Amino acid sequence: MKLNHNPTREYAEKLDENDELASFREKFYIPKDPEGNEVKYFTGNSLGLQPKHTEQYIKQELDDWAALGVEGHTDAKNPWMPYHEFVTDSLAKVVGAKPIEVVAMNTLTVNLHLMMVSFYRPEGDRKKIMIERDAFPSDIYAVKSQLKFHGNDPENDLIMLAPREGEFTLRTEDIIDEIKKAGDNLALVMLGGVNYYTGQFFELDKITKAAHDIGAVAGFDLAHAAGNIDLKLHDWNVDFAVWCTYKYLNAGPGGIAGAFVHENHATEKLPRFEGWWGTDKKERFLMKDEFNAIPGVESWQLSNPPIFQLAALRASLDIFMEVGMQKLKEKSRKLTSYLEYMVKSIGKDKIEIITPEDENQRGCQLSIRVKDADKNLFKELSDKHVIADWREPDVIRVAPVPLYNSYMDCYRFATILKELV
Ligand SMILES: *Cc1c(COP(=O)(O)O)cnc(C)c1O
Repeated sequence: MKLNHNPTREYAEKLDENDELASFREKFYIPKDPEGNEVKYFTGNSLGLQPKHTEQYIKQELDDWAALGVEGHTDAKNPWMPYHEFVTDSLAKVVGAKPIEVVAMNTLTVNLHLMMVSFYRPEGDRKKIMIERDAFPSDIYAVKSQLKFHGNDPENDLIMLAPREGEFTLRTEDIIDEIKKAGDNLALVMLGGVNYYTGQFFELDKITKAAHDIGAVAGFDLAHAAGNIDLKLHDWNVDFAVWCTYKYLNAGPGGIAGAFVHENHATEKLPRFEGWWGTDKKERFLMKDEFNAIPGVESWQLSNPPIFQLAALRASLDIFMEVGMQKLKEKSRKLTSYLEYMVKSIGKDKIEIITPEDENQRGCQLSIRVKDADKNLFKELSDKHVIADWREPDVIRVAPVPLYNSYMDCYRFATILKELV
């Protein structure tokens, strides 16, 4: 969508006035600078802001714990025994899945390992894993350690996708070519749905299809995609996915993570690490020795879950359900396209955006390269109470989040950046 933007302050104010979702900002605490003014917060891709009603949701559980002790498992207003189920429907809507396909459990890297235990099953020559070269380090450690765990060699058996010479992002056609080339040797494609560094959203539907065509499994780390992209994991036939909830999903530091396993695998007898929360709910307290997997992704649960973390996630998801992913995505496109316009108007000689221009290949984040910049620039931005993120050697990542960032935030950011470069 190309709008005829203009660079004036009045125009930004007008966009805010006409923004149907503007009032959602009121539902969040926006951090303040020492003078008491709201900071320009652009790191919702790193830690989402706190919904004002989160405290209430957690307090409910504290109060029930105080009043009921162990009986809270069954008698709390929101009983703890099935508590994780209270987030299932919303979580399913956020990632485009069926309820049987999603669960909130553990943390992200833990879930990635649990999924690979089941979905990375090398056999003979089919043993390679494919990942993007510039993947988040934790993901690289996870796939390399899985290779080693199976006696494979991370040097030879990890295919790392790199952009073409002089380019920053991967072309879908190149990813698909690499998958075809790897063919029978490829066991698993595991990419970050949205690359944390460039902000590129990979075309998961096409990549999944290409992986399936050669007999490989497709799984994704959606840390930067969940709550940011209008995902359709079920329709895209993704085999598994994992994500954290403290970034775009605003569930607080170290929040409980999510996992997706496609319905196609719901009753397959996959090898998995087992724990009592994954066994048939009717039998859980019979303390039997045989594990009887719950159909669907719930069977990957190991432990009884952290209720306070789930309460915080619930608080945040309730806001997402009020808006709906589609509306949210609409605003996100507009907000990011406006920020892109403002940043570009600083001038090609000074600034380059490495995030794809194609709106179907990005979420809200823009990764901005500043010519001849060093970390000083970032410090100067911080001094002006812009909270952004600096990645060596010269990239500033900014994520205007449609739930709480305004057009004026973007206007202010671009104006400050222009002054500084
Ligand atoms: C944020 C992020 C992580 C962090 O992992 P945790 O297990 O939540 O600490 C891992 N991978 C990616 C791609 C991320 O963006």
